[in-house]
Amino acid sequence: MDAEGFFGLPTDHESLAAVSDRASGLEAIVAIHSTARGPAFGGCRYWHYENRDAAIRDARRLAEGMSLKNALADLPFGGGKAVIIRNPRQTDRQALFSRFGRFVESLEGRYVTAEDVGTTEADMAAIAAQTPYVSGLKTAKTYGGNPSPKTALGVFVAIRSGVRQVLNRRDLDGLVVAVQGLGSVGWDLCRLLAGAGCKLIVADINPAVAAKAVEQFGANTCEPDAILFQDADVLAPCALGGVLNVDSIPKIRAKLIAGAANNQLQSITDGDSLHKAGIYYLPDFLVNAGGIVSAVREYQGKLGEQQVIEEVERIGQRVEELVARVARLDLAPARAADAWARSLLVPTR
Ligand code: NAD
Repeated sequence: MDAEGFFGLPTDHESLAAVSDRASGLEAIVAIHSTARGPAFGGCRYWHYENRDAAIRDARRLAEGMSLKNALADLPFGGGKAVIIRNPRQTDRQALFSRFGRFVESLEGRYVTAEDVGTTEADMAAIAAQTPYVSGLKTAKTYGGNPSPKTALGVFVAIRSGVRQVLNRRDLDGLVVAVQGLGSVGWDLCRLLAGAGCKLIVADINPAVAAKAVEQFGANTCEPDAILFQDADVLAPCALGGVLNVDSIPKIRAKLIAGAANNQLQSITDGDSLHKAGIYYLPDFLVNAGGIVSAVREYQGKLGEQQVIEEVERIGQRVEELVARVARLDLAPARAADAWARSLLVPTR
């Protein structure tokens, strides 16, 4: 196993488990980065990969991000992630996720799954028929279901806090925000931003959804490959990882970046480049924790929706704390957040 970790820094993962099942076509990997704070908790991605190595790399990188995210969100869970490699043999989705549920069950609670890109509440229900180690269920007793609206709320409060702290503006009225990707999170984020008086510039590779945003939010649109470079106050990447890199950074005009996409930086040095360019990057694993807060609290079954909302809103205070740490340590925000989160990878009780 190579030693390259999140952001290209050397790191360790506790374990990697894999399954390959002819009957259902399931090919899946569960990467567990850390269980120092508790069982590894992180979603299941259902995606096309060029090959198995690419899937393993993605699972490991995402698992490490989950360790940092869960730690900063003060959750009693470690970091893990599952990926299911899409292939044409997977003709029965119910059978696929049912078999994946048995795989999760075989890990005996060291990993808890939930939705991620490409998976749905129905998939979680199929998993739940096989194992209790799953969240994001519509049928949850107290509170639960698709975590995306809480992710969007967390991104919104992070932007609101960042705008106050970094851009020194009192409110969001008239602020121009460029949103890349109008999926489950991006769409809800646009709704919240529009409601707060922001002017939106949006792009999605699906032109129909972009057209709908024009109609519903009075947004302007641009081509998907131009959205990162718009004349906006804030950029919110809500589609893919790796969008902040040596090619894109010199062309970015926004002064604050905060979005939902996991692993937005291609490497930690891109965080340094943003800092040098005077662009304040609020790290994804701090900003997009609303969904995992939702999934964890559903899994624990103790809190109601209002309490979960209040917990998600604490992301705004964490942005304040990060800004204070950055000023004190004279570090790029990406480095300050990374060090802060890693210092919390210790048992919670
Ligand atoms: P989604 O699949 O519902 O939406 C992604 C959207 O991005 C789609 O509408 C897609 O058409 C669009 N898109 C893809 N490539 C694009 C491009 N090049 N330019 C513009 N648009 C493009 O996913 P989601 O659940 O909204 O998640 C978005 C991101 O946030 C992902 O990176 C995900 O890992 C991350 N995230 C999601 C959650 C959650 O609760 N859903 C939690 C944490 C992090």
